Amino acid sequence: TTFADLGLSDPILRAISDAGYETPTPIQEKAIPYVLMNRDILGCAQTGTGKTASFTLPMIDILSQGRSRARMPRTVILEPTRELAAQVADNFETYGKYNKLNMALLIGGVSFADQEAKLNRGVDVLIATPGRLMDHCERGKVILTDTKVLVIDEADRMLDMGFIPDVEKIVSLMPPLRQTLMFSATMPPEIRRLAAKFLSNPKEITV
Ligand code: AMP
Repeated sequence: TTFADLGLSDPILRAISDAGYETPTPIQEKAIPYVLMNRDILGCAQTGTGKTASFTLPMIDILSQGRSRARMPRTVILEPTRELAAQVADNFETYGKYNKLNMALLIGGVSFADQEAKLNRGVDVLIATPGRLMDHCERGKVILTDTKVLVIDEADRMLDMGFIPDVEKIVSLMPPLRQTLMFSATMPPEIRRLAAKFLSNPKEITV
């Protein structure tokens, strides 16, 4: 299987080839076609498997159609730590280099003013830690009613770090008709419960 077989568009295929990737990893091969079909995904995968590209690549494709309005991100990616959020942002820059997308990173330690200026320009993809995103939502700086795709990455770490109440609040601010992708290295009962609550008819992928 090649990346082209998975249904990704030319600008993304060029960026993948620039990155030096030759073939998709198993999670990419299994997940990308379903993400492009707008299916919900429950992915059981560790870091190091190519998990990040399995959602960022098809999201760039989905985002290349349409535009985002001020303060209303069309896609949101939740990460448990600043470091992971920054890595996902780097991935978006690498894979999206031929697609003109606006990205904002909402993590602690970055000034609110800079983040707000970006949000006001319209954000296609918002990459955030749950606490920081809740702050922005409560101040009315981010509005989630136009969000079409939500990624909950490293769900088991979010659970260990006590972020699930914030995640639940964030999800409650989004439209129920959306695409949700949830990834976790392990599937304890609490993660299964959240999956049943947040996902509809998900494609389950284990690598
Ligand atoms: P991740 O599991 O998302 O943290 O990715 C692990 C590493 O694998 C990252 O450094 C990626 O740049 C790299 N990577 C992701 N997909 C591929 C691929 N298809 N071929 C080669 N390297 C890849």
